[in-house]
This record gives sequence, C-alpha cells and structure tokens, in this order.
Amino acid sequence: MIREIVTYDINRKDNPPVLTEKTRQVTDFKAQETIDCVNDLNDTLDELIRNEGNKRGAIGLSATQIGVDLAISAVTLGDKRYMFINPKLEEENGNSRLFRIGCFSLYKYRAMVRYNDDVVISYYDPEGNKQKLELKGDRSCVVQHEMDHLVGDLLFERLEHKKEDLFIPRESLYKDGKVPLRNHGPLFELRRRMGMQKVQSTPVFYSSLFNDYTDYRAYVKKAAEERKELLDMIVEHTPDKGKILEAGNGTGALSVCLSSKGYEVTSLQSDEDMKDLAVRINEQNETSVRYGIAQIDELPYEEKTFDTIFSYEVLETLDDETLLKALKEGLRTADKYIFMVPTIRIISNGLKGNERLRSANSWKDLLTKHGFTIIEEKITADGGNVIFVIR
Ligand SMILES: [Zn+2]
Repeated sequence: MIREIVTYDINRKDNPPVLTEKTRQVTDFKAQETIDCVNDLNDTLDELIRNEGNKRGAIGLSATQIGVDLAISAVTLGDKRYMFINPKLEEENGNSRLFRIGCFSLYKYRAMVRYNDDVVISYYDPEGNKQKLELKGDRSCVVQHEMDHLVGDLLFERLEHKKEDLFIPRESLYKDGKVPLRNHGPLFELRRRMGMQKVQSTPVFYSSLFNDYTDYRAYVKKAAEERKELLDMIVEHTPDKGKILEAGNGTGALSVCLSSKGYEVTSLQSDEDMKDLAVRINEQNETSVRYGIAQIDELPYEEKTFDTIFSYEVLETLDDETLLKALKEGLRTADKYIFMVPTIRIISNGLKGNERLRSANSWKDLLTKHGFTIIEEKITADGGNVIFVIR
C-alpha cells in the first residue's frame, strides 16, 4: 500500500514524534507488522521514484517516514531494491566529506551534511538472513542518512552550521518566483540590504555540484563558455605552457580548462571541502591541476613563481583593505594579475549575496589611486563584468 509521507516543518513545534524517536528493532520477521512495513515501504518508494526519478542512483525511505517505528529502511541502489532491517554500521573506511542531500520528510529543503565516504554495514533481509554490504560515495551517504532516520535523527545532527547548511535550493526559489530570475545589480543590492537576499556560504552556493553523479565535464565546459572573455584574456597574457595561479574560493573550473590547454596550473581553494570538490572535478576531467588551500591575501609562494595569477567571483566579496592586500600579494607571486569583477550592471543568477558592486570606473579609480598599473581593461559584452589586467 502506498502510504502518506510524514513530514517535518522546521517552523513548527508540534511535529510528528515518530520522526524524531528511536525505532524498535525487528525481532520477528514473520510478524504482520514487519511484513506490512516492508510491503508499504516498497510500494511507497516505488511511487516516489515514479514521481521524482532516481537520477543520483541512490534513493531511500525509512519506516518512520511512513509513520512506523520499526528499524527498517528501503533503499534503491542503481536498479536494485534493498530492504535494510536492523542495519548496523560495521566499518568506516574512507574520509568523511560533505554531501548535498534531500529528505522526503523535509520536502523543499536541501542540506550540506557530512558523512563517511566508504562504509560497511550489516543488516537483515526480509527473510531474516544476515547480510553485509560495502557502500561508497553517494550510496554511502544515502544509506547512512536512512540509518539516521531509524535512531530518530533527521539531518539536523549532521549540519555543521545549523542556519546556513539547511537551505531551499536556489533553483527551486527561482522556479517559485521568489527570487527574480535575473538580478539587476542595484535591485539586487536593495534586496540584500532589505534582507530579502540571503548570503550563501561557498559550499552551499556550489551545493548542486557536491554529488557523485554530477557531470563535471559538462560543468567545466559550461563554466568555460560563460567565462570565455576572461579565459581569452588569461591566454593572451600568459606565455605558452606558462605557469598560472588561480586564487579564489570556487571550484577551479577555469583552472581545469587552462590545464587542458597545456598550462601548468595551480588552484587555491578556501577550505578542505571545496578542495575535495575541485580535486574530483579535476580527476573526472583528466587534467593535472595542483591544489592548495590558502587565503587570497597570504599566498604560500616565492616571488614571481607564476607568470599570471587570476581570480573571479572573489575580489568583489572582500573589503577594500583585504582586496588591496590580495592584489599586492598576487603581484608579488606573479608578473600579472588578471581578474574579473561584476559591475553595477551585473545581470546574473550567480550571485552569492555578499558582493560589493561598483561601476567599472570606480574599480579603475581604486586601482590607479593605489598605484597599480592597468595594462588592459575590458567590459564584458553584456556590460555586467569588467576584466582588468594589472601589474
Ligand atoms: Zn530522509
């Protein structure tokens, strides 16, 4: 029988207790309540997959989510349906990392949660036979999430930053029309000041890329197409096979693209989670970018280690003092600094909410006032960004 999903509303106090209480272990595999629960989980998960698909190759539903307090989770991995009865974590082999996850009981939300990358679990199948299974990547994440349901944890226990890491994804906000499809610069500023536009942390901003099923080749290709003007400028100002440093807190997509063109590229990320993601993007693209973690205004390199350094989607988030320090630091380690920053005319869905928007002229004034030499400047064709090459 297809059952209704029990949902949890984070803005309410009287949520159904079944979702947050520890379940009972199954002791009688032939008991009617066990058989009913298994059948209903199968039927309900089938229906959910019919409606939502299983793009990620791993999807699950636990007994508590259909209102039953038994330790049973149904999970589809690839084409195979597993019924995990009394599952138990036996081994944790890999490192933990961030995953982006949704939960049928927290319908419109997504979360960045930390799970082990590689685990071995034991469980009983519906016939009462004990089984073991090793799980990696998204599969590991999904099964651990279902096991959390069985001890009454929704994903709150796994969030590192309670407020920031549980979020309504940008893509569905756009769809509902709550955020304008196109954010005109000054309007965006106004929305931000009025608290209508939330500042998103870097992992949350890039959350849609955190799952293993993401096609990182397509992602890099698209990112490179969208930043073609910046890429051309970097290529123009860097000698053949030259050394390039990307300083920023993103995914390093342009680094991957430049590596594929034969440059020797080093890419700096802001933290381990972003570095992990960048490394996976690099691996899937079979390029050879080197990665490190550093603050943009404190680079761990000798004078003039690189021919060029570039940044985008980062300098506009810094205050003036840090920005100027970052530019000086960049020019200590490289001959030229190439960077792209948004102007007040930016029209983009890709803003994090903490950008300080200024006009191209105001950027120019700031640079010349502080003694930087502008070798080239170019406003992008859409007028929304300006690219500077300075030394
Ligand atoms: Zn769930």
